[in-house]
Amino acid sequence: MSKSSIYGLTLEKLTVWLMEHGHKKFRAQQVWDWLYRKRVTSFSEMTNVNKECLQLLEEHFVIHTLKQHVKQESADGTVKFLFKLQDGNLIETVLMRHKYGLSVCVTTQVGCNIGCSFCASGLLKKSRDLSSGEIVEQIMNVQHHLDEAGQDERVSHIVVMGIGEPFDNFDNLIDFLEIMKDQKGLAIGARHITVSTSGLSDKIYEFADLKMQVNLAISLHAPNNELRSRIMKINRAIPIEKLMQAIDYYIEKTNRRITLEYILLRDVNDQRETAQELADLIGDRRRLTYVNLIPYNPVDEHSQYQRSEKESVLAFYDTLKKNGINCVIRQEHGTDIDAACGQLRSKQIKQAQGK
Ligand code: SAH
Ligand code: SF4
Repeated sequence: MSKSSIYGLTLEKLTVWLMEHGHKKFRAQQVWDWLYRKRVTSFSEMTNVNKECLQLLEEHFVIHTLKQHVKQESADGTVKFLFKLQDGNLIETVLMRHKYGLSVCVTTQVGCNIGCSFCASGLLKKSRDLSSGEIVEQIMNVQHHLDEAGQDERVSHIVVMGIGEPFDNFDNLIDFLEIMKDQKGLAIGARHITVSTSGLSDKIYEFADLKMQVNLAISLHAPNNELRSRIMKINRAIPIEKLMQAIDYYIEKTNRRITLEYILLRDVNDQRETAQELADLIGDRRRLTYVNLIPYNPVDEHSQYQRSEKESVLAFYDTLKKNGINCVIRQEHGTDIDAACGQLRSKQIKQAQGK
């Protein structure tokens, strides 16, 4: 069996593991420091850790299991990475530059079972969940890429918006978030991390109860069941009423703002009336709700959808604003390098299959 990545362990789990194997607690902290602060890429570089401990780690873990397969840099500074997993599957990770810092978009599953009608990731059914280590490794690989450039740049923000439904891989997601937040590690602030879900309501309750201070974004994309079920089949199982109940619970429990994501699809969900319906749905929740309007990134296989006209986008935005809804139009990154969710991966797979 192939060894797993040591990046999959939270500091607590690493400490317990090392102590169970006869080592002192401080060893875990030393190893952690080498991994996340000094960011070495081999156990042998951990010079203050004794030989027996290093040997034990070598026997059970590797540091890197991902291999960089493709790296594309865009004119706006976006970098897209395609990584090969140990089993040969490909996943993608995107680094984006903003005024406020550097954010990384991570993948949580190989494919996605939710199968939204506009999404490139859902074209391929989920073949498996990523381990927590494989999710952490994406961030570490990007951080190593930055370290090598020697500009002293840090990943400051994380968006869990790559391939997959993070709440369908809940436990590994939570370990990943713990590892990213750890004060002795990368120490990325919870408020700088956003998890996006298609709306698995049971997990929204669980996530609220954890009180992690991590931002939550919900892919809403339509204000009524008829329309939402048409574009996201998950809505047939979890309709809007159920989703809104979970959102209310989240807001009440955490007193945190929630983001509603809304892809604008031409003549499908981008009309003024639909914007009004969305504003009405949000209603009294507006104080703690933020709408993110997302320009649709065309996907070859979903030719039934087109990007909204500029005027419709502005009219939609205007209608929400007039209703007192906080709202932004999402800035796009790296459209010249297929930076949208799942696109590079699906293109590469198609190429490999000769399509
Ligand atoms: N599965 C989760 C997270 C990954 S998708 C979710 O659905 O929320 C992250 C975001 O990308 C979602 O809001 C999704 O709706 C959006 N997205 C998917 N396909 C897109 C496309 N072709 N153009 C623009 N945004 C897209
Ligand atoms: Fe899966 Fe999210 Fe894509 Fe829907 S939008 S298919 S949930 S990755």
